[in-house]
Amino acid sequence: MAESVITYLKQKPSPTSMNFQQALDEVLQRNLSQEPIVRLLGAEGKESAALRRLADEEREKAVGKSTCVHAVLEFSNFCRNDCLYCGIRRSSQVKRYRMPKEEIVQHAVWAVKELGYRMIVLQSGEDLSYDAETLCDIAREILRQCRAILFFSIGQRDFSLYESLKKAGAAGVLYRFETSDRALFERLRPATSLDARLEHLSFLKRMRYLIATGFMIGLPGQDMPALARDILALGKIAPEMISVGPFIPSPLTPLSKHKPCGMTLSLNTIAVLRLIHTRSRIPVTTAFETLYPQGRREALLSGSNSLMVNITPRQYSASYAIYPGRFGSEEEIEKLTREAVEFVKSMGRSVCRGYARDLRPNLSAPACA
Ligand code: SAH
Repeated sequence: MAESVITYLKQKPSPTSMNFQQALDEVLQRNLSQEPIVRLLGAEGKESAALRRLADEEREKAVGKSTCVHAVLEFSNFCRNDCLYCGIRRSSQVKRYRMPKEEIVQHAVWAVKELGYRMIVLQSGEDLSYDAETLCDIAREILRQCRAILFFSIGQRDFSLYESLKKAGAAGVLYRFETSDRALFERLRPATSLDARLEHLSFLKRMRYLIATGFMIGLPGQDMPALARDILALGKIAPEMISVGPFIPSPLTPLSKHKPCGMTLSLNTIAVLRLIHTRSRIPVTTAFETLYPQGRREALLSGSNSLMVNITPRQYSASYAIYPGRFGSEEEIEKLTREAVEFVKSMGRSVCRGYARDLRPNLSAPACA
């Protein structure tokens, strides 16, 4: 898989003009190429509204009203990387924390047993102090105490660590490729490489992890063709879940003076993704909710079909400052959970808390239990 994505990314056709309807037809007929996608991503006003309405209809037809509410538990903000966009980069002056193993287990089990979550993403910076044994103990102990679907979002760690984690019961990984533009990737993520990240993703897929991946929208230096190529790269990876979010500048980073991503572009991206990946799980990521007051609602109306609730214990959540003002990070976790569930219902959707089989695409069963 990595090979085909890498070869594909080396070809860069130049964009030309196309009208909106032609672009839509191309995408709906699965003639997927950069040109129509660029055209749809640039839709504004009535065109953007039409694109998003169509994506909402596709979502309804393909996966119905069921909308999952997942949890994210950020257990450490130590990171060995120095990504220019990220507020917890190694050289950032943020207050650091590490949750002890027992506290991670206790909190995750509480979220499952008391709040009703089924799927939890355990996320951190690339923090090597959690070795394979510790992470496996965490996974095993959570799963011993409750029935849950664990996703790990811990970055580029050894293949052998991921193998052990799988054996310990981890079901999936949340591992974005961030941007498929090689030059941009290497500029924004010093000392890392796109090929290595894609190879990792490919390895994780071969290991039969459920894959949640995607990219950031509106990164400084990312033009529309690059964004269209991100979308096309996803098609080759065929993930179970697509995780994308708008870039938000962090004052703790060298990109602090750059503009955040505009709402129309973010929503157009979700809509195009839904038209292409009709049955995928596409969550409204926290960055949407943080950046746009109506982000949650608008994303759910543009093709999204799940919410991610931040359940990091509140004494730590302000320090997981990948970008400022993260939505809900100061609200009481029980309240935030209740509000997410109520919100889903208020939009006429039904709440699914996310069983593993829901995440396998191409199942004939409805997306929700
Ligand atoms: N260490 C893990 C998790 C990274 S943090 C890994 O490497 O996969 C989770 C995600 O936050 C990142 O994958 C990135 O896409 C997103 N992120 C980081 N900084 C951001 C910013 N300034 N604006 C929007 N999203 C950001």
